[in-house]
Order: sequence, then C-alpha cells, then structure tokens
Amino acid sequence: MAETGFDVVILGGSVIDGTGAAAYGADVGIRGETIAEIGDLSQAQARRVVDAVGLSVAPGFIDTHAHSDAVLLTDPQHADGLRQGITTEILGQDGLSYAPLSPENYRLNRRYLAGLLGDPPEDLDMSSVAAFRSHYHKKTAINTAYCIPHGAIRLETVGFYDKPLVGDALDDAKRLIREGMEQGAVGLATGMSYFPNAWSDTDELVELCKVVAEYGGVYVTHLRDVNTERGFGGGDVPEALEIGRRSGVKVHFSHYRTQPDSAGKVTERVELIDKAKAEGVDCTLELYPYPTGSSYPIRYLPSEVNDGGPDALMNRLRDPDEQRRMIEYMQERPNDLSSAVFTYLPKNSHLEGMSLRDIADERGKSMEESLMELLVDEELQVGYRGAPPDSVAVWRQVSRDCVELLSRPDYMVGSDSIHVGSLPHPRAYGCFPRFLGRLRRSFGMLTLEQMVQRMTENPARRFGLSGRGRIERGAFADIVVFDAERINDNATYDDPCQFPTGIPYVLVNGQVAVDSERCTGVLAGQAVP
Ligand SMILES: [Zn+2]
Repeated sequence: MAETGFDVVILGGSVIDGTGAAAYGADVGIRGETIAEIGDLSQAQARRVVDAVGLSVAPGFIDTHAHSDAVLLTDPQHADGLRQGITTEILGQDGLSYAPLSPENYRLNRRYLAGLLGDPPEDLDMSSVAAFRSHYHKKTAINTAYCIPHGAIRLETVGFYDKPLVGDALDDAKRLIREGMEQGAVGLATGMSYFPNAWSDTDELVELCKVVAEYGGVYVTHLRDVNTERGFGGGDVPEALEIGRRSGVKVHFSHYRTQPDSAGKVTERVELIDKAKAEGVDCTLELYPYPTGSSYPIRYLPSEVNDGGPDALMNRLRDPDEQRRMIEYMQERPNDLSSAVFTYLPKNSHLEGMSLRDIADERGKSMEESLMELLVDEELQVGYRGAPPDSVAVWRQVSRDCVELLSRPDYMVGSDSIHVGSLPHPRAYGCFPRFLGRLRRSFGMLTLEQMVQRMTENPARRFGLSGRGRIERGAFADIVVFDAERINDNATYDDPCQFPTGIPYVLVNGQVAVDSERCTGVLAGQAVP
C-alpha cells in the first residue's frame, strides 16, 4: 500500500529538471532519500514544506573538480561548497589525493600535498579506495565521488622517484586501479604539472587507462606541461587525445578554457579536440569562470628536485648550491611568478594575500629566492593564486569565452576549489552562482535550463552517478532551490570568503542541508555512485 504523506514537499516552484528541457511549474514530494512524486501536491501531507513560490527547483550541482579531499574530513559541513548549491563533488583531482596508499606513503603524500589540500588527520586508513570512501559516507554534508589519483598509484608501486612504471610494477599499478574501480571509483585522474605524476610517459598512461576503459571509467587530465618530451606530441592536448585513441578510455579535460593570453581564442582552443571527437575519441571538458588559477608553488621547481619526496626536497631547498641551481632554472623559463599572490602560508598567515613580488621587494631578494625561503619556512605548505588581469576588457573577454565554452553540450563545471588559507581563490565560494548569475545575465548564449544541464545531468551521466543529476521520480533528492533573478556570487579576488546570494535551500539525499541560507548541520552526503 502506498504511503500518502511526504517527508518534504517543495511547493510552488519552477522545476528545472536537469535535462535542458524548459522549466515547468510543479511541486516536488520527497520520501526518505528520493523524489517520490512531482505534480500538484498542494493538498498533500508533509512533515516539512519548503515554500518555493517564485523560485527555481533544480537538481543539486555536481562539481566535477574539487580539492576538498582533506578539508571535508576536518570541516564536514563544507559550507563554501554547499551554499553554492553543490551536492556532489568529484575528488582525487589532478591525481593528487590519498588512496590507495600504505600508512607510510599516506603520511608522506599528506606532507607533500599540504599546500594544496591542508591537513587531514594523520592516522586514517587510506589503504584502499573503499577505505577512503568510508571516511566520507554519511559523514559529510555533500556526496563525494572519487577518481583514483595517478600520483598515489605511482607512489605505491615505484615510490616517489623519477622511475619508469613498467614490468611488475606496472602490473601492480593495473591491479590497484582494477581494485579501485571495483570499489566504486569513477575513473583515474592525473595532473601533469605535478609529481610524481609527471614522471610518467604516454605509454604508461595508455596502459593504465586500458584498465579504466574496461570499467567504463573516465580519464580526467590536467594536461602535461612539464617533462613534455615524455608526452606524445609534446604533452598537452595531443597527449591526452593519444591516450584516448590508444586505450579507448573516455577523456575528460580539467579546467580547459581561455586565459588572459588566449582571450577570445575559443575556436583555436577546441580545434584539435573537435577533430579527435569527429574521429571517435570520446571527450568531455570542464571549466570555472575566472581568468586565473590557483595551485601550490612546488610546481615551479625543477622535476629532479622532487625526486625522493618531501624530505629530499626539503634538504635540497636548504642547500645553498641546490638553491642556486633552482633559482637559475626558474629564471631561465617563462613563468607567472610575478602574478602569484599567496593564499595559504599557515606559519606566516600575515603574508596571505601578499604578492610574491611585494614580499621579494620587502626582503630585498629575488622572487625565486623569496619563494624558496617561504617553502622552507612553511615546510612546503604554501598555496597561491594568479592575480586577475589589469585590463577589465581582457577579463570580460575571458568571462565571455567561459560562457561560450559552456554552451557546448560536452562541457560541465569544475570549480577547482581549494579550500585552505584565509584568502583563497574566489572560485571556492562563487563558481556556480557566478555562472548562473553574473555571467548568464551579462552574456546570454545559453538558457538557464541549458546552463543547469551542464551542472547536473551532464556530469552525472559522464561519471556514472546513477540516480543523480535530474529531478524525476525515483531519483535521489539532491535539490537546489534558487532565485533565478537574484542568484549571484559575492566572492571576489580581494574578498573571497563570501557566500553567494539567492540560494535559500539545498537538499542532500532528501535532507534539508541549507535552510533559508543557513547550513543545518545535517551530514547526509554519501560516497557515490
Ligand atoms: Zn585542480
């Protein structure tokens, strides 16, 4: 016998179902974790009624690229993501995370990644993807999906060394990926600006991706820009496409967009990818709507000084001869050090928000030397972002490019959020509402429903998150209720920790997680799919 009452009814809203179809007026009734009914429920019994008159009711947003692996463990409320309407985040991004790792390797990688991810508890079991997932399941406010990190696979098989992954070690690596996929991972992620990932070559990645392809998983890649001679076609896009071609894996391009130096060149950016797609390589892409990025500055150092891991790197940073060589290396290559602004310096937090250039001037030293002093002082735990362009016109062009790219049906939204430090990149607080508010109103090009589709159904389908990404009967009740007229981001480069406007309610697995713009403390997030 069917039950008559609902746990929650969302009344009077405009339903954007996630498919891109036009919004329609309907009430949404929820029982337990799922959507039980959509229609006229104005007379239905409900334990909780959410008044959505004048508001849009959409599937919760799926963030395809978030660096909250560690902060979710220490701040499971995760207000900065949740308040944007994000109900699912895909972790393990850039191949930089914690499982599967032995206890020793977990502690080592935890230190190496501290500038990007922060400080997760030291004694967690990270020995398998299943163990990793168990730390989040029903313990965090949002759902989490996981990509097996390429860095962990290398660390577990050949250690933190610049060694080829071949022979027995390659067999071990494939076994670890097979186990991880069987334990619920959605793919394999790498970041080829980082170590140990960038010690790989194309052949290694093809071999690993063959296993991912067997499971229908996705190869998620931040493209190669170091050790480029090891990558097919010099790394970058050609290598990623070659990996797709030779392994048959689905390829997903991380944070792929124009930047100030390529503003307006959307067609050129996607030309190679579209050509490969026409030949049958299965590609999707993601982006965030800001002109500059954020990372950890170890990436500026030469490849070989990372060999051996964080202790070896610290010893080299303290050695004056090694230091001199690193400075020369950095000064010989084009880099964007002069636009670096520190987001995270836990022992020198008074310097957060300062540019490297200003700190160097103050110290009467070069930028390279100052950076090395800070890395030593902080024991590698340093984060930075790029300063936005001086020209508002360039910035607006990049914003326009972002909307143009998102109008493609193969795009989704990945915030690339980094949640550490007092002055993080604003994308951690504003990514999704910035697209739905400011940018949609400024540039049009796609409808509200299409934009929501890129944030919901598109990633759910790509990453196999079954039962998510749509408002339909039987789907998990991950729902965001927002005001399409008022929604906007408030996080800026100079004041980034500001919650957005116009998102009064967020539900995760049927539980009200944000109520009248307040986090409720409910931790209903699951490890998905
Ligand atoms: Zn990233």
